[in-house]
Amino acid sequence: MSECVFCKIVAGDFGTELLGETEHSIAFRDINPEMPVHLLVVPKNHYRDITDLATHSEAAMLDLVKLGSQLALEHTSDGSYKFLFNSGENAGQTVFHAHAHVLSQMPKSV
Ligand code: 5GP
Ligand code: ZN
Repeated sequence: MSECVFCKIVAGDFGTELLGETEHSIAFRDINPEMPVHLLVVPKNHYRDITDLATHSEAAMLDLVKLGSQLALEHTSDGSYKFLFNSGENAGQTVFHAHAHVLSQMPKSV
């Protein structure tokens, strides 16, 4: 998957700052945030979308949900957040490497 932007981020090609890393997943800030908190959680292996991920690796799926929900609590002031999977072009998916968006209007003040 040499043309996949998220595979390149997993490989460290862009020097993207990681906010979290587990056995199966990494998390980093969205380059074009739609809310004050906008994180992406991505499986290290390439799956086309969340259906592909859930079908082929329950371990990676669970790992992604755990990392995303933990980071959501770390990065929000009130523990409220959206956990979003755009799946398919007509649903707004633009990067065809499975990922979750973690979104919140309430960042934790630093
Ligand atoms: P989708 O529309 O596929 O659900 O979400 C893809 C997301 O990836 C978009 O919100 C977009 O801003 C983000 N994105 C695309 N390329 C990069 C990148 O190179 N670095 C980061 N940090 N985010 C990216
Ligand atoms: Zn990929």
